[in-house]
Amino acid sequence: MNQILALRLLDVADDAAIIIDAASRIHYANDAMYALSGYDAGSLPGQQIETLLPNAVRVQHGEQVGAYLAGSCKNPKVLGNKRRFAIRHRDGTMLPIMLKAMDLGKLDNENYMGAFFIDQRHERAIELQNAARWQQLQRIALSDPLTHLPNRRAFEIDAVRSSTRARRAGSPMTIGIADIDFFKLVNDRHGHAAGDAVLQAISAVLQSQARASDVVARMGGEEFGLLFLHTDMVMARQVAERIRLAVAATCVDFEHTPITVTISIGLAPLPADGDWKAGFMQADAALYQAKSNGRNRIEQV
Ligand code: GH3
Ligand code: MG
Ligand code: MG
Repeated sequence: MNQILALRLLDVADDAAIIIDAASRIHYANDAMYALSGYDAGSLPGQQIETLLPNAVRVQHGEQVGAYLAGSCKNPKVLGNKRRFAIRHRDGTMLPIMLKAMDLGKLDNENYMGAFFIDQRHERAIELQNAARWQQLQRIALSDPLTHLPNRRAFEIDAVRSSTRARRAGSPMTIGIADIDFFKLVNDRHGHAAGDAVLQAISAVLQSQARASDVVARMGGEEFGLLFLHTDMVMARQVAERIRLAVAATCVDFEHTPITVTISIGLAPLPADGDWKAGFMQADAALYQAKSNGRNRIEQV
């Protein structure tokens, strides 16, 4: 009597339940199993469980059940544990589920196994949504909203990673700082919105003139951090010179007013001990030199 009541309870349980024999033939499926799998009520008994399994495990399933029952696999990972799994819906789509399978022992000298298939579609959708949100947050946290360049935080992360690699590989790396000359005058003469437009245009020029392996970031204000990876001072200077000339040749059209600016750049090699911050401070000192030597020029340490 208790067993009949227990079976009635299983019939209406929210989680899909299924019972198979030693030959993987289905003996029982509850209502939730039919709802989940898309099969007509009462149509699963007699079918092989493999019908519901992903291709990747279809073939081994029978062998694994056989090996377990023959005693050659005493502690299979599947039995008794909850695992992420998938089943095939009748329409062919794969549904994410949490599988809990167990050995039900013998009845009338036949071995039986049972499993709950807990629908994970909602959970998986939330996981994907969270992952997308996390990526979006990271993008926001690491990029400058005005210019869409990597921001100071992103620059620092890149600098740590690149300097560690460069030091390990014994490859050269050059650090630079570019600063727009007399930028305050742009704001004073044309207004803050014009200044913003110039920052956007110059950022685009910096990025387009830099090589794919170079890092260009907006450190704040009108100051940009540069990392030239696998690049010695001679080569970095050539790239920086190309950037400087391209900026000077750029005419920003702000509400029909042409605005041109120049940049000064300070360069320093990554110190031998890999301390990129020390290199950055040296590049800053070189930038100061470039400013006092007349601007629109490059100085190096
Ligand atoms: P120098 O050649 O010595 O670098 O002179 P400068 O005028 O470029 O330097 P200064 O530090 O005196 O002025 C920088 C100006 O940049 C002042 C500030 O208002 C402006 N600025 C900083 N961030 C922004 C921004 O996001 N938008 C705009 N429009 N202006 C900004
Ligand atoms: Mg400036
Ligand atoms: Mg500045």
